[in-house]
Formats: sequence, C-alpha cells, structure tokens
Amino acid sequence: MKVLKFGGTSVGSIENIKRVKELITDGDKKIVVLSAMSGTTNVLVEISDLIKNKLVDQAVETIENLHAKYNDVIDELFETSEIKQEVGNYIDKVFELLTTFTSKKHNELLYNRIVSQGELLSTFMFTKYLNQEGVNARLLPALGFMRIDKANDPDDFYIKQNLQRIIDEALPAEIYITQGFICLDAVGNIANLQRGGSDYTATIIGAVVDADEVQIWTDIDGMHNNDPRCVENTHAISNLSFDEAAELAYFGAKILHPQTVMPAREANIPVRLKNTMDPGSYGTLISQEYEGEGIKAIAAKDGITAIKIKSARMLQAHGFLKKVFEIFEKYETSIDMITTSEIAVSLTIDDASNLPSIVEELEKFSMVEVDNNQSIICLVGHSVVRHHETHRLFKVLQDISVRMISYGGSNNNISLLVNTNDKITALKRLNSYVFEFATT
Ligand code: ASP
Ligand code: MG
Repeated sequence: MKVLKFGGTSVGSIENIKRVKELITDGDKKIVVLSAMSGTTNVLVEISDLIKNKLVDQAVETIENLHAKYNDVIDELFETSEIKQEVGNYIDKVFELLTTFTSKKHNELLYNRIVSQGELLSTFMFTKYLNQEGVNARLLPALGFMRIDKANDPDDFYIKQNLQRIIDEALPAEIYITQGFICLDAVGNIANLQRGGSDYTATIIGAVVDADEVQIWTDIDGMHNNDPRCVENTHAISNLSFDEAAELAYFGAKILHPQTVMPAREANIPVRLKNTMDPGSYGTLISQEYEGEGIKAIAAKDGITAIKIKSARMLQAHGFLKKVFEIFEKYETSIDMITTSEIAVSLTIDDASNLPSIVEELEKFSMVEVDNNQSIICLVGHSVVRHHETHRLFKVLQDISVRMISYGGSNNNISLLVNTNDKITALKRLNSYVFEFATT
C-alpha cells in the first residue's frame, strides 16, 4: 500500500483536481491525504483573527466570499444537479458553522475548529468527484483516528488501532481519502499538526500502515540544492538520506513540514517528493541510503534571534550552561545553534515570544546582547564535516560577515549565522564555491 499526499495547489483548481484524479487511478490500492485548497487555510486564519478582534462584519464578509468561491468550484466540477445539490448542502453547512463562530468567544479551540474546515471541504468534494468519475473512493475521517498526545507527538498506538478499525468498517475501496493537518488532541478536542502539517499526516499514516512508500506531491520538482528564490540555476536533489532531509526541512527548505521525516525514518519507509505539474520528473527520493559525500544542499532560515551571554563567572566554573539552559527550558524556548568560549555563550532561537522574560532572568548573572534579524544558513550532506572538499567553505567565509558557526555538532550539517541582509549574498557565494566550482 502507498500513501500519497497532495498539497493545496494540487487540489487548488479544477484543472489540477482532474490531474490528481488521473495520477491516482492506476488500479493500486492507496490512501490519499489532502490539504485544503490553496489559499483556504490562510483565509480561515484571517477569519479567526477577525473574530478575535471582534470585527464580526468583516469576518462574515470574508466567510461569504470564500463560500462563493467554493460554489463556483462545485458548479464547474460536478455534472448532475443531484450531486451539485448534495455537495452544495455539505459546503453550505460548513459555511453556516463558520458564521455561527463569529458570535463566539475567541480561544484556541475556536481557532482550531475554524482552520480545520479547509481539509474537511477539500476531501469531501474530492471524494464525491472521484465517485462521479466512477472511481471506488471512500472518505476516512481523520478525526476518527488521528490523535496527538500531551507532548503533541502522534499517538501511534491509538492511530494504528483506529485507522485499521475505520478501514475495516468502511466498504472496500480502491482509494481511501483522508484529511491532512487535522487531528484530535490528548483530551479529544479538535487540534492540528501546525501549518503545513499535511505532509506529517502522510508519514504518520505511512508508518502505522507500514506503507511501501509515502509520496508527497507538491508544485515543485523536489528538494533543491539551494534556495531557488535567492539563487539561480538550482536543481532538485535526486536522493537524500532521512538525516539530510530532516536537517533541510527544518532549516528553511520550505517544501516539507519539518517533522515529516521522523515517522518515515523510524519505520524506514521511503518518502518520494513529486511534482503534480510535472509527474514525469524524478523528484527527490528520501530513504535510508546515503549517496555521495560532501555538501549536497544549502538552505536558509530567517527570523532568527542571536543572544550572547557573557559572564566572568563562567571562567573555569561549572554549572553555568545548566543555569542558562534552565531559563530557556522554563520559557519552553528551543535553542537551534550554540557556540561557546571561556567567558561567553552565543545561541540562537527562532521563537522570540518569551525573549523579554528570558533576557531579564539571564541579566541577573550575566551581560546579554541580543541581535534580531539573523538567518541561519545550513550546509547539509553526508559526512560534510569530514569531507576533504569542505575546506572550500572557509574561503567563502573570508568575504561574508559570519556571526556564529556551528561545525561538528552533527556529521551532516554545518550551520552559519549571518545578518539577514547578507543572506542572499552568502547563499550566492556559497553556491558558486560549493557547487559551480565543484563541476569546473
Ligand atoms: N492546510 C494546512 C496549511 O495550509 C495544512 C497543509 O496544507 O499542509 O497549513
Ligand atoms: Mg506544504
């Protein structure tokens, strides 16, 4: 069995919905995970914000506009008046529900209920469309099996048991459709796997059903060796190991939700990234295999804050780092990069929401300097740290102002911290030294 996930663009227009139907109807049994139609989740977040800010009229108007878009899709996608009516009724109910939310008190649960509607809409419509086209497809409601625990990790045991039960109870089908992104939390309330979480849904399901392969279909031909928005002539990487892909997904190669690789790595299930708009291209295969050594890809993550903590007390003393880490632990803020000297520690965070409190506590025993607007540039490749060509990197560094460097933390990653204003230059320089130089 294969698990295939299609992203928002893949189900974002009539033309693409038809394309996806062609791609999945090859006679093989499969589970298909869908995102919301492109743009929908953003609008739902906007609706939630409007309700939060008590802008009820604007919220209602935004709901009506979105409803009209869905009505247009129904009109074009479905043929008979019966099926148009059936799907229309479902869609109307969803939008009625959203409208009732505008008079409710805003809280996290309401946000979760609002943003879950996008996947409910896309999967209902798509299943009905497949049925209209004579495909034996059935909808498996994700809220019947997908659940996270108190630590926000997938509850594999629950998911496996309930998914199996739901499949057994459903009538046999060639294609099972389910919602990405949405789930229940540990107490049974509606929750989600964070923005972009449909990828993660696909690998969680892939792992519990022991799939032969998980395919993530998007609108780009795989993971690229550098950021195509900043550097010209990047290319898709054909093969990546789980470790390499995990580093890249976290550090900004926006194509995959960062946690996606974890369930696949644990269950050793290959993940193939494919392009719905160009299905013939190879894409990227993520598996246990390592192919080649040295720097394979470069990615950047913006919005990083660097914190330098200086203290004379650190000299020859023990327990200093423990004290520092305990403060970050207290404020549930995770640290990405860290470098130390005898009298100072520099570290980075990507969530600065508790920064004022963190700084206040650190200042009780040290001097603290904060730099916003930083970017982490991450160089990934198997054994990149040991590789004999990696020295070329240091030639490039002469021309770029690097704030921190992390080398050797993992064998597959070297990270640099630069000011975001220098990011594009740094990516371009690194690209020409690392990739172009290598081929000349
Ligand atoms: N629809 C959700 C989002 O836009 C989940 C996803 O697309 O993966 O974040
Ligand atoms: Mg995505």
